[in-house]
Amino acid sequence: MPSESEIWFDRARAVTPGGVNSPVRAFAAVGGTPRFMASGSGAWLTDVDGRSYVDLVCSWGPMLLGHAHPAVVAAVTEAISRGSSYGTPTANEVLLAEEIVARTPVESVRLVSSGTEATMSAIRLARGFTGRDVVVKFSGCYHGHVDSLLASAGSGLATLGVSTTPGVPESSAAQTIVLPYNDRAAVEAAFAEHGSAIACLITEASPGNMGVVPPEPGFNAFLAETCTRFGALFVSDEVMTGFRVSRSGQWGTDGATEGWVPDLMTFGKVMGGGFPAAAFGGRADVMAMLSPQGPVYQAGTLSGNPVATAAGLATLQLATEDVYAGVDAVAATISSAATDALTAAGVPHRLQSNGNMFSVFFGEAVAGAAVRDYATAQTQDSEVFKAFFHAMLDAGVYLPPSAFESWFVSGAHDDRAVQHVLDALPAAAAAAAKASPGSTNGSNN
Ligand SMILES: *Cc1c(COP(=O)(O)O)cnc(C)c1O
Repeated sequence: MPSESEIWFDRARAVTPGGVNSPVRAFAAVGGTPRFMASGSGAWLTDVDGRSYVDLVCSWGPMLLGHAHPAVVAAVTEAISRGSSYGTPTANEVLLAEEIVARTPVESVRLVSSGTEATMSAIRLARGFTGRDVVVKFSGCYHGHVDSLLASAGSGLATLGVSTTPGVPESSAAQTIVLPYNDRAAVEAAFAEHGSAIACLITEASPGNMGVVPPEPGFNAFLAETCTRFGALFVSDEVMTGFRVSRSGQWGTDGATEGWVPDLMTFGKVMGGGFPAAAFGGRADVMAMLSPQGPVYQAGTLSGNPVATAAGLATLQLATEDVYAGVDAVAATISSAATDALTAAGVPHRLQSNGNMFSVFFGEAVAGAAVRDYATAQTQDSEVFKAFFHAMLDAGVYLPPSAFESWFVSGAHDDRAVQHVLDALPAAAAAAAKASPGSTNGSNN
């Protein structure tokens, strides 16, 4: 008999491309049927078949406090009882903007509804401000599905990009230079050749969309300095890391101590508390170029939506230093248990983390040294990840269904949830060992 998830997935595929509204949810990288979730509470998700999982995805980051946090639910319920959208300014938008300005170096902020919208708007603003067109990005960094950012490296370093998907005009990708991450020489070369045409460089503040690949010490500072030297804007994309890795995001762990400030920053995920809210902000003189104050147009019917801002504001107000310390500790416990279990089972792998974000790269090719760029991340063995993923899923642990994603925990991951993950690890490590080429563990049966 098919499961409820299978029944829903069939119905979904009849009316929606691939049966999902965002590709990674389809389980294409791991095989099998995606679980349709019916509810979430704290650290746990329950699917439509009534099976429960400890959630290590946390909606790809936003659920910093866990699912259905009572104070967030109360704030949302209170807000929605007063109506769901007015198309006018509201007080909560100001409070949320003030909270963002208080936690980060941005001086002025504009609210939007998705991370994609934030990066798209930041790039338009950077182009409008500088009067230049070219954008520099790093391969493996994801900034949403913005045309000019869906580009991959051209035939040589410092050459203009080519589009990675049909539907993006080559002319759009050709305005983008795509470089290997953590590669200072490539950045120097690109700016030396194209510097006077570069509007901005955009980077994930610490990449989490190729697995967790942190910036090498000083790399972000170097990017900020290089942009300044060439009159380009430094755009730090903190849609994933913002209000997640610290109360001030990734900037709080490097920029704040190293003494540099991005010209523009983008936020999303945690700041929406599980609702569609995102933002971009930065230098007051740059943000002043935005309509209606300045000539660069940007708008949104549901921007600053009263329900979404209530959820985001409640989430940020509850995200205290204590919460971050707790989330960091849970991440440390789970990540070190994962690497210990894999080591005990003889599975070649590499654990990488950045604060409370972490991921495991599988395979001999990545086990020996730091994974510092996308080309290296791509040498991992996704078959081994697949086996590990499904064993964890069968044991009631919901990992990201792709080896190129960060794992996320929340302030609601209590001892019971953590223990459930730890208990699942040995069998999943054994399953990974069986799938490992040349493995000596389990190959005899
Ligand atoms: C998720 C993400 C985005 C896109 O945000 P959406 O809300 O999915 O459009 C942009 N940048 C980074 C770094 C992200 O992780």
